[in-house]
Amino acid sequence: MFRPNPVFAGLPTSIFQHMTFLALDHDALNLGQGFPDEDGPVGLREVAAKALVDGPNQYPPSKGLTVLRQAVSAHARHFYNLEYDPEDEVVITSGGTEALGAAILATASAGEEFVLVEPTYDSYRPIVQSTGAVIRTVKLAPPELKLTEQALRAAIGPRTRAVLINSPHNPAGRVFTRAELETLAKVVDGTDAVVICDEVYEHLTYDGRPHIPFATLPGMRQRTLKIGSAGKIFSMTGWKVGWVAGPRELVSVVTKAHQFLTFTTPPALQLGVAHGLAHAMDFPQALTARLQANRDILTAALTRIGFQVLPCEGTYFLTAGIAGLTNEKDFAFCERLIREAGVALIPLSAFYADGTPDAYVRFAFCKKQAVIEEAVARLERYLAP
Ligand code: PMP
Ligand code: GLN
Repeated sequence: MFRPNPVFAGLPTSIFQHMTFLALDHDALNLGQGFPDEDGPVGLREVAAKALVDGPNQYPPSKGLTVLRQAVSAHARHFYNLEYDPEDEVVITSGGTEALGAAILATASAGEEFVLVEPTYDSYRPIVQSTGAVIRTVKLAPPELKLTEQALRAAIGPRTRAVLINSPHNPAGRVFTRAELETLAKVVDGTDAVVICDEVYEHLTYDGRPHIPFATLPGMRQRTLKIGSAGKIFSMTGWKVGWVAGPRELVSVVTKAHQFLTFTTPPALQLGVAHGLAHAMDFPQALTARLQANRDILTAALTRIGFQVLPCEGTYFLTAGIAGLTNEKDFAFCERLIREAGVALIPLSAFYADGTPDAYVRFAFCKKQAVIEEAVARLERYLAP
């Protein structure tokens, strides 16, 4: 009999696909899977379309087109005063997902410890598991969902090879504060741990809250791999253009992992993104204002309906408790809402290995305001008539 890798053979279909397919079957509004329902700037698409027709259409360099590596480097300097040499401290990947895969493969190995923060974005754990690394978990508990020194110290130590954090955080909607990041810096100091920072939502922070890259903390740049995604910056999630920036000794290993994952990324899309990083950075700023307004509409309505809305500081996502509305677990509640209320959400339990807590749901509000308003009206009619 075939004996496929149990990590992947044992996985269910992703929670995002599951809820999206169910939503399609029931004609439900999709506040589940996090993708914007309006495409980003036409300028990027025009540059990419022209390049598709005119070329280049053959393999670009594995580490990415020079013009895009330069643009990523300039972006880090402009927004965060971080210096990365575009020659060998930036690698372009096929989306944040591949960036994460390559960064994990570059740092995790069998029997060595790897630290994940829960709730955990769904792509992290299976890749770490497939390397045979031992996963240690820092669990963020709602309603605060805060990084604490106690939890970090319990998971991180001399055997830690890497810690993977995500800020702004999907699904928690948290943006880690300087104090939380300083605590992490204090805990990893003196260890050999690499810190992988998934910062794909870097421009989506609300109420003027700053996004602080971990690499900007004193002494931390040298141990940090910083991950970005053009899909998120420019609302083109299907494009799958991402990157990793970091010190050359780490980026060189990530680049080798990337070389055998995808080798490279479509050149036309790389050119579109390079154009965007140089000329369209007003887009994410305007998007932030629009999404903040959506967040506020959603927060007010959900509170009225009886959800316990947790503070949402950034990302596409807001999390809310359902204990005041039902005794059901979040997964069953989400499936019922799709079938009976016509609104799709994601259960927070899907982001915890042991499935708890199970009384919270995640709303994606990266949608047109009219869609948010209609979803809220449906929920209100169904849950609080
Ligand atoms: N990290 C997080 C936290 C995400 O939410 C996503 C998005 N879907 C990704 C990484 C992957 O980004 P990309 O779509 O560029 O692969
Ligand atoms: N990042 C998106 C979310 O969290 C989903 C991406 C995917 O479906 N793989 O909803």
